[in-house]
Amino acid sequence: MAPWGGLTCCLGAAALYLLGRSSGRDAQILKSVTRVNQLKDLAQLLDTASKVLPLVVTITGRVGSNTPINCEHSGLRGVIVEETAEQHFLKHNDAGSWIQDSALMLSMCKEVPWYLDDGTAHVYVVGARGATGLVLTIGSEVFEESGRSLVRGTLDYLQGLKMLGVKRTERVLATGTPLTVVGEAVKDDVGTIRIQRPHKGPFYVSHKTIDQLIANLGKWARWYKVASVGFTVFGVYLLAKHAFHYIMERRRYWEMRKRVLAAAAKRPGQDSEGSDDKGENGSDSTKKDRLMPDLCVICLEQEYNSVFVPCGHMCCCTACSLHLTNCPLCRRRIEQLVRTFRH
Ligand SMILES: [Zn+2]
Ligand SMILES: [Zn+2]
Repeated sequence: MAPWGGLTCCLGAAALYLLGRSSGRDAQILKSVTRVNQLKDLAQLLDTASKVLPLVVTITGRVGSNTPINCEHSGLRGVIVEETAEQHFLKHNDAGSWIQDSALMLSMCKEVPWYLDDGTAHVYVVGARGATGLVLTIGSEVFEESGRSLVRGTLDYLQGLKMLGVKRTERVLATGTPLTVVGEAVKDDVGTIRIQRPHKGPFYVSHKTIDQLIANLGKWARWYKVASVGFTVFGVYLLAKHAFHYIMERRRYWEMRKRVLAAAAKRPGQDSEGSDDKGENGSDSTKKDRLMPDLCVICLEQEYNSVFVPCGHMCCCTACSLHLTNCPLCRRRIEQLVRTFRH
């Protein structure tokens, strides 16, 4: 039996350690990116910065667009609008009761070109939907109950489904929202500046400020580290316990084997007499080496014939087994006793 509990804990600890390390590294990278205080400085910064290295910056401003989307349901003006429709229903399960479930019917996302504006200039943001930290606010959430009719109801019942209705949710990145964006700044031929996902490095679009982002990552890095240490300690404890049990079981096995062999040698039984007659060296010694004699390890008189459930050890006779609550080899609790017969 492999020590799965201990191994799982240790693997979990390793995964948490790696997560913590990557969070810590991200926090360090965020600390090192160039902070642009005023968007109008960014053009100059791009001109003076080396053309070879990508310039990763952090900027803040309010969301704006020349062609914002007018949301149907919430009436908000947004630059990214995501619409989802979820069918909610009751399902008849095998146990005979109804359980609530839902399925996604429709998911749509629209985005128009948009920029961040801080009053001094504006900078376009490209590919924000793939960035870390982007949260769209819920603009509207409506539940349309499905109509009830006798025919419909009967049909639903026969199919084992009861339709409840459809939930339509509209999530929006509204114009005017203050945002922080971390990404690579590039300038195209016409002179328009945009922020995009760097080939390598962080890409954040977040409602939090850069300092909050750094503090958050640092907090997560510390938390992962603490959890990793906890899991390691627990995993090592489980492994040590398993190893200790294994060693103790082997020791008990060898001690019992010694006792049983000694008892078998003393016994004026038929086995030893028979082999004595035939020849001392050959068959007798090989028999002893090969197997432990079939003696009960408790009384050392009867042959063993009871199997313990769940550990599966067979080392006692039925009479002795009835007095035991734990297996003499592995010390696991005996829940059941199975008597065996040989033919
Ligand atoms: Zn016995
Ligand atoms: Zn056992």
